[in-house]
Amino acid sequence: MKKITQPEVRGIRLSTFMCGLAFLTSFLILFSCLFIGYTQERQSIEQQVLELNEIHAKELSHITESLVSAMQHSLDESAKYIVNHPTQNKQLAQNNLDYFRNSSSFFNAVFLIRPNRTIELNSPASLNQAGTKLTSKISIDALEAKRPTISSPYIGKINRTIILMTHPLFDHSGQYQGMLAGALYLQKKNELKELLGTNSRKTDGSYFYVVDRKGNIIYHPDSSMINTNVQQNKVVQALMQGKSGKQVVENSKNRTYLAGYSVISNVGWGVVFQTPIENTNIYSSNLIRSTLVYLVPVIILFMLLIFWLSRWLGKPLYLLAAYAQNLAAGHHGKNRPQLARWNYEARQLHHAIMMLEEETREKEKRLQSEANQDPLTGLLNRRALQSITDNWVSNQYSFAVIILDIDHFKLVNDTYGHPAGDEVLKMLASVLRSQVRTEDLCFRYGGEEFVILLYEVTEQEVMEVAERIRQTTAIFPTPMGHKITISLGVTLSLEGTAEAQQLFKHADTALYQAKENGRNQTVFYQV
Ligand code: GH3
Ligand code: MG
Ligand code: MG
Repeated sequence: MKKITQPEVRGIRLSTFMCGLAFLTSFLILFSCLFIGYTQERQSIEQQVLELNEIHAKELSHITESLVSAMQHSLDESAKYIVNHPTQNKQLAQNNLDYFRNSSSFFNAVFLIRPNRTIELNSPASLNQAGTKLTSKISIDALEAKRPTISSPYIGKINRTIILMTHPLFDHSGQYQGMLAGALYLQKKNELKELLGTNSRKTDGSYFYVVDRKGNIIYHPDSSMINTNVQQNKVVQALMQGKSGKQVVENSKNRTYLAGYSVISNVGWGVVFQTPIENTNIYSSNLIRSTLVYLVPVIILFMLLIFWLSRWLGKPLYLLAAYAQNLAAGHHGKNRPQLARWNYEARQLHHAIMMLEEETREKEKRLQSEANQDPLTGLLNRRALQSITDNWVSNQYSFAVIILDIDHFKLVNDTYGHPAGDEVLKMLASVLRSQVRTEDLCFRYGGEEFVILLYEVTEQEVMEVAERIRQTTAIFPTPMGHKITISLGVTLSLEGTAEAQQLFKHADTALYQAKENGRNQTVFYQV
């Protein structure tokens, strides 16, 4: 059989394709889950942080408000005491002032200032400002205002950033006696700073600062920021307009914060509590981590399942493809795959391949027999004779050859026509078939000549067969009523017969002899 060269098969295996598809789908699902989860969670975390920061800012503003009230009240009480207990005793007055400053840690320094701008007493006395005059506009303004004041931060006479809180002194007749001033050193320890400092930076980077009504920073965890003006900041602008609330804001260093802010109403200051927006990523990345922890094992399991499933589903097709390849290579019925009953498509394909195989086999058989058969008589042809005798000779089989030829056949054709001649040939073929054993083979040698191979027979046996054929033919009725006779040449294969050619030559010689002797007879080849 001609070997079919198989074309190179390109393409992706079904299992690989399905695995790839599953992987892509899983990846997209995971990515979308993370993306949606992340954006949703981020928004809600940002909102939560904003709300929390607003609450923190409010709490701090209440605390500061109470503290400032307490400070003002304390100044007021001390002012009353000074007015109600006038004394010429300087030491007693100094003691009273020291007592007032030390009784709370509200103020870093306290001054008793007279209407002529002279500092009469200061506590601690070590400041040595007694007898000196006020120099800063802020303190002079406060003195002349003759009412309680709270200043913006400024660099005071003692070279510190301070906030000055004052209370006027009026005697019983309503005469203005000057003012009692408490100074807060913004960079130094005091009650306000202590209080705010305890609520300082959080682990997530949140912190707060306090601004006065002009946007100057009064409190900040980074003390270098104190007394910096930040009125460009949107949140500070809102505070300066007396508004409280929450918003996302960018600071002067281009960092974005989630800020809550609240006004300290009794002083017009404001508290800003804020968290750097990038720090909220901690919460979002926690979400991603926990999503991955839950989803990744599920996806791996899913992938394994798909991998197994795709191989399982693809296997019948793979086996069928291999089987079809085998068929194409000429190996019929080799490795016929067994398929599961439920796999409809694979079974259909299997059925189609089987039918194709059956048909091919039939066709092959037909072609083979057609190639060896004489179409007119149905006997084997000369080609088959050639290969069979070659085979028998090479296997050293013992056999006899009869060659027979119709006598004066030309006459039959000439008298009754060629088709009638064909009928005679068919008739003779049936006579030959009927007179031999099943193991003997009849051939149409060409024209009106025939050959019979008889397996393992003696001279006597073959002669008997030949004679029987001759006699039967001679009496056999032909379709047109014309009797025919045949002449036969017979020979036996001898031990050591090297070529079939030789045998036929001998048989032919015997046939020629029969014709010579007058036809309608059998001649055995004599050496
Ligand atoms: P003989 O053999 O007795 O010497 O005489 P013959 O008339 O048979 O001689 P020859 O061998 O010369 O003639 C054979 C004839 O057989 C010639 C040809 O027309 C005829 N013939 C050969 N093949 C066929 C065939 O297939 N059909 C028919 N009808 N005739 C054929
Ligand atoms: Mg002839
Ligand atoms: Mg003849």
